[in-house]
Amino acid sequence: MTDVALWSCPDCAFTFDAVHTDVGGGYSCPACAESRLSAALAVLRAQRDATLAECDAAVAEYDKAAAEATTRDADSPAAAARRGLAGGAFLMATAVRAALGVQPEPDNG
Ligand SMILES: [Zn+2]
Repeated sequence: MTDVALWSCPDCAFTFDAVHTDVGGGYSCPACAESRLSAALAVLRAQRDATLAECDAAVAEYDKAAAEATTRDADSPAAAARRGLAGGAFLMATAVRAALGVQPEPDNG
């Protein structure tokens, strides 16, 4: 049996063969790296979800204003303008979703 030099992460104690150095020397802990990436991903998902919620709220707000103006006087320029704004909000929300490439997330926590 050969002796294997080990490196232990000072932050989490994950230990691996000391032969696995970084390209420039030294060590990077894969367990800590995964934790940092998971935290960063959670932040990005929260930002995405907040953005989509803002888009949906804007669409609902402009749709409501358009419906109310149309109920008051469907043929009025004000109602037409409100419907135009609602259409713009919908297009904006659709463009944001497309730009974010929103698709269902895997359900693995
Ligand atoms: Zn670590």
